[in-house]
Amino acid sequence: MKRAPAIFIGHGSPMNAIENNTFSHRWSEVGREIARPSAILSVSAHWFTDGTRVSTLSTNRTIHDMYGFPEELYRVRYDAPGAPDVAAEALALLDGYAVADGTWGLDHGTWSVLRHLYPEADVPVFQVSVNAKAALSEHLTLGQRLAPLREKGVMILGSGNVVHHLGMVDWQTSGGFAWADSFDHAVREAVLAGAFTPLAQPNELSPSARLAIPTPDHYAPLLAVLGAVAPEESATVFNDARVYGSLSMTGYLFA
Ligand code: ZN
Repeated sequence: MKRAPAIFIGHGSPMNAIENNTFSHRWSEVGREIARPSAILSVSAHWFTDGTRVSTLSTNRTIHDMYGFPEELYRVRYDAPGAPDVAAEALALLDGYAVADGTWGLDHGTWSVLRHLYPEADVPVFQVSVNAKAALSEHLTLGQRLAPLREKGVMILGSGNVVHHLGMVDWQTSGGFAWADSFDHAVREAVLAGAFTPLAQPNELSPSARLAIPTPDHYAPLLAVLGAVAPEESATVFNDARVYGSLSMTGYLFA
């Protein structure tokens, strides 16, 4: 079986779920370009928990975990089936590091992007949470341990944002603040060079890290994806852009 892709997507605003813009258009194209996976393991920034959790649900629910958006967004459902068998394999690979969870489902980190990649919601999906207590290097390790699933046709998706500082979002700014561009570029250089370990020490990578990653939730999914990348693989960069000053949309595909 051909190795399934690993992909990090900068999901940005939840409105990208229902908007047809350059970002969501690219996600749709990616969905058509890559080999169709047998299942998707999604590490979402929006499941930020004490310890690592793996969703074992066979039927997902669509979680509308965002506030103050138009009604249309709350009507979106993404009824992809769960993948309890693959979730059990993931738990076995994580060997006590993670626990099974039967309460979550799919939050907007997952469905806002998968709605464009797989609009028919016909690929089974399950989520793995971001451990709020983990050191950044542990997210790389998590990906390394989950990597064998890719050989079985399971795509590893990380949904977050390389740069994510909500407190500094300026809805009137179309591009990125200088520090946001600078951090995103530093990360891109490291990813393209295959230098993933330094990305777990972002403060040493760039002085802008403090502003770009005020909390690890949106950055950690990138590390999980990179951990699952094989040495001979190289990244394709897509949606390389900053929006609203302090959000990055940049994505990385390994396929
Ligand atoms: Zn988010």
